[in-house]
Amino acid sequence: MNKAKTSKNSGRRTRQFDCVIIGAGPAGLTALEYLARFHRSAVALGANGPRPRLLWIDRTYNLPGYPEGVNGRVLHNRLRAQAEEMGGQVRDETATKVEGKDGDWTIHLSDKSKLRARKIILAMGVRDRVPDIPDVEKHIGHFLRYCPVCDGYEHTGKKLGIIGSGGSVARHALFLETFSNDITIFLHGKSPNTLGRYRSLLKQKGIAVEPARIAKIIESRADPVSDYVGSGVCLEDGGERELSVLYGALGCDLHLDSVNHLNFKLDEDGYIITNIHQETSVPGIYAAGDLVSQINQISVAFGQATIAAVRIHNTLDDGPKPE
Ligand SMILES: Cc1cc2nc3c(=O)[nH]c(=O)nc-3n(C[C@H](O)[C@H](O)[C@H](O)COP(=O)(O)OP(=O)(O)OC[C@H]3O[C@@H](n4cnc5c(N)ncnc54)[C@H](O)[C@@H]3O)c2cc1C
Repeated sequence: MNKAKTSKNSGRRTRQFDCVIIGAGPAGLTALEYLARFHRSAVALGANGPRPRLLWIDRTYNLPGYPEGVNGRVLHNRLRAQAEEMGGQVRDETATKVEGKDGDWTIHLSDKSKLRARKIILAMGVRDRVPDIPDVEKHIGHFLRYCPVCDGYEHTGKKLGIIGSGGSVARHALFLETFSNDITIFLHGKSPNTLGRYRSLLKQKGIAVEPARIAKIIESRADPVSDYVGSGVCLEDGGERELSVLYGALGCDLHLDSVNHLNFKLDEDGYIITNIHQETSVPGIYAAGDLVSQINQISVAFGQATIAAVRIHNTLDDGPKPE
């Protein structure tokens, strides 16, 4: 079951999958599971690719069905095992280039081999921009967080910081009001003028604006044996601010290098635009997960991947063929 077809191509026998999924995070692995359950030949690439955002999650508490929370790696392993159990293949290689047309795509891989596919799902996710603060990496997913939609609830009533500039940081700060009335925007050296028309609204709402650069994260131990955790920031002007959490609002970069030349229609923030079937502007190529112009959430990635997989199954001209 779920074997890729073989076909003649320039005298060499090459495999053609019903679908190659580029990315093996929540979106890619969900699409793989669904396609495998439809007896479609499908492979998800990138098991050894850039770190999936899912793996930054210490414990998520907003995923429906997990009221006790779940660790990102545990969830990732379960998604992969479930897809493989159904016959889906997961490969380590990343995609380096995609060529062809609807029904006959060639995907070039990092090990110099190629795959052929009738359809493609893009599920490569995004990379969050990290602020230039010394030793900040070890605080990602802990003190430095990226998703108040995900975990703002856990910080209700606490001192919240948010780093960024322009209208984006202002809008994020206003959203943080859902959880606390002690919010500080850290412009990290940028001018308050970048806040533009939001300046007066922020003042009216009592949201503080700190222009000075953050020099370092203040660390303390939660208990005698735990790792050091962030508990605030030191500013370059000598000031200190106690914080429960610092959110990043610096934007992110999409992992689109391998497909940029196909000129997908993007929204004004650079995310891929799809229709309600998750079809991109390039016929035969679908997209799901964080790189799509929507809310970046695991549950959204699941839903979009499901829609794409069902649509692909139904539109492939030969219908289901269980052996
Ligand atoms: C710190 C943090 C906490 C979060 N907390 C939550 C939470 O509590 N709840 C929630 O719902 N969401 C949370 N999120 C968001 C959630 O992680 C994402 O919405 C989700 O992981 C998106 O899934 P994805 O499959 O689109 O992308 P990803 O999980 O990023 O996976 C993308 C995959 O594509 C692969 N890839 C990239 N380029 C290529 C290529 N060229 N070829 C092949 N493969 C490639 C990568 O290696 C990776 O495997 C959090 C995010 C962060 C950073």
